[in-house]
Amino acid sequence: MRVGRLPAQQPTDTLVYNLAVTGAPPHLAVEARLVGWEGTSVFLSAPPPGSGTTVTAFGASDDRGVSVRVQRTGGGYVIENTRAGAIRFRYQLSFTDPVSSGSTASGLDTTRLYAVSRSLFVAPDPVLYRKTGHPYPVVRLVFLLPPGWRLVANWDSLGSVLEPRSSEELMEGAVAAAADYRFHAGAAGGAHYTVAVRGARAFTDSALVDLVSESLRRGAEAFGPVPVPRVTYISDAGRKGRTSGSLQGTASIGLLWEPGEMLERARSHDTFHETLHLWFGGVMEAERWWTEGATDYFAARLYAEWRNDPGELAALCYQSLRNYERIPHRTAMTMAAEARTMPGGDNTIRLVYRKGMLAALLLDAAIRRDSRGRASLDDVARRLLAAARDRRSRAATEAEIGEAVAQVGERSTKREWARVVAGTDRITPSQVAAALREVTGVDLPPPPPRTNVPKALSQPPSP
Ligand SMILES: [Zn+2]
Repeated sequence: MRVGRLPAQQPTDTLVYNLAVTGAPPHLAVEARLVGWEGTSVFLSAPPPGSGTTVTAFGASDDRGVSVRVQRTGGGYVIENTRAGAIRFRYQLSFTDPVSSGSTASGLDTTRLYAVSRSLFVAPDPVLYRKTGHPYPVVRLVFLLPPGWRLVANWDSLGSVLEPRSSEELMEGAVAAAADYRFHAGAAGGAHYTVAVRGARAFTDSALVDLVSESLRRGAEAFGPVPVPRVTYISDAGRKGRTSGSLQGTASIGLLWEPGEMLERARSHDTFHETLHLWFGGVMEAERWWTEGATDYFAARLYAEWRNDPGELAALCYQSLRNYERIPHRTAMTMAAEARTMPGGDNTIRLVYRKGMLAALLLDAAIRRDSRGRASLDDVARRLLAAARDRRSRAATEAEIGEAVAQVGERSTKREWARVVAGTDRITPSQVAAALREVTGVDLPPPPPRTNVPKALSQPPSP
């Protein structure tokens, strides 16, 4: 990317990547050619640490093969002060794991590729492009795959050539390839979807397709049409251990589950959660407790409505409560403070997920109580989505969420906000039970506490 003054209207640069799966063990050999440049430095950002890939043998040259100086920086590479003309760069990409350890990681073996796209590309830094107002290069991706492999990605596809529409699409997608993907297509909630499945599973493809289509349909019913024209779900069997789906950005959702997993409550809830990120985290950004916690609550409620079983919502909320009760800082800091001071982390021990879900339940119940059933937290969500839609930042601030909650609800809603969002009061089982009753209309008392008897034996067992 160039620095310095830029005229507002310039022809857009074009950038073509050739990515070849090659070698044993397989790696990606990547060659790129950037055209349209004016002969100043190019800033390229590299895959972040922890993305499951390593870049080696990075080099750059001009079109005649004369090598160009490259400087390694903290986050990537700078190709320095080239003369005008095309610039070529190349690198090798090695994968830490043969099989992706989760949907936010990457893996490559002789049978399949699964990758979060930011782990693949050394690419012009989108932030710098945005700052200078220069359009991001038009990108084409040409994959050279082993015989029989087919690509799965949500970008417009021209056979094995893909064209992401923006830097977000380039960097925040999931991409997969293998010879044995089974493709299922349909439409729901105003969008087209593709579900690509591979591997033998403990459930049928059609069960997964039903789940996907219901999550889109019910999401659209609650929050307005699916905000992207097409969504791609990539379902592969991951490793044994905890792997679950995660939306990587604009419109592709990786669902990597353990080989033997059933399509029951936990995974179904995950899938609804990832689908709802098309709205929360997609068209609207907010504090993490909303983007993750409220999303988790909406996912649980919509899933339970689909199953026509309020017990499903209760089970997911009480599970969240059990995890919440194990978080040491649960009454010591607010969710926003946690998000600032302890970013990331296992979602089972983070307030933004576990308390966030309960906070959303309590707010939903309070709004329904205050409005005698005429309004719900969905109304708050729709107001926020409408406000965020036209903003470049897509952001709804914490203050705006608070205002929307106060406008839709009344006294008890404001009290809940002060207690659980602005404050750090403890959330109790009886509060959760009361909220569940308000939301579902039925009694869903907390399950009896688990009696975890220590395994230490005071006496030898009798035969
Ligand atoms: Zn999430």
